Amino acid sequence: MSKYIGPICRLCRTEGVKLFLKGEKCSSDKCPMVRRPFFPGMHGRERRRKLTEYGLRLREKQKLRKIYGMREKQFERFFEMATKQAGMTGDNFLKLLERRLDNVVFRLGFAPSRRAARQIVNHGHVLVNGKKVTTPSYLVDPGDVIEIRPQSKELEMFKNISSSESTISVPSWLEVDIENLRGRVVSLPEIDQIDTARIVNLQLVVEFYSR
Ligand code: SF4
Repeated sequence: MSKYIGPICRLCRTEGVKLFLKGEKCSSDKCPMVRRPFFPGMHGRERRRKLTEYGLRLREKQKLRKIYGMREKQFERFFEMATKQAGMTGDNFLKLLERRLDNVVFRLGFAPSRRAARQIVNHGHVLVNGKKVTTPSYLVDPGDVIEIRPQSKELEMFKNISSSESTISVPSWLEVDIENLRGRVVSLPEIDQIDTARIVNLQLVVEFYSR
């Protein structure tokens, strides 16, 4: 599957729900899902969607994949990993997605969105336990220290974050020292600490892959 390069907000409008793909900007009343909460395109207002059982499961899977901005192959690979773990597959899947380095950089407030966080990691601005990691899918573990590389802290985009009164709410499985652009993984995430679980029906995602 090729990389999506169209308007980000269109992804939310296609799913008919706010997926919060632009971070803090999504809370503004300029959000297209507030102003135009219908299907994108010229005839979007008239378009009514009657979903089959399969379609319903597909849409939930697509919602989750879009939130974490992943391509299908890698998304499936994460699901496979989740099926091999003990416990509920849906919960395991979401916890694995949450442990991705790009997601953690976003959750710590070092990037305005997961998409931006992925670019920050790709460009070598992030250290994990003092070593540069450029793989966005790297899975963090408890005790890991994630920080912006000292040379990169001088870049305008990071200076603005460290000097601002950050309003981002960091989940309790992470702790952050925003002034020094450093964070630590306190524990593995629990399902009730992951807001995505309130947007996506994980059971339907599991059913999609188990068909
Ligand atoms: Fe765009 Fe965010 Fe609104 Fe989605 S929730 S439509 S990404 S502003």
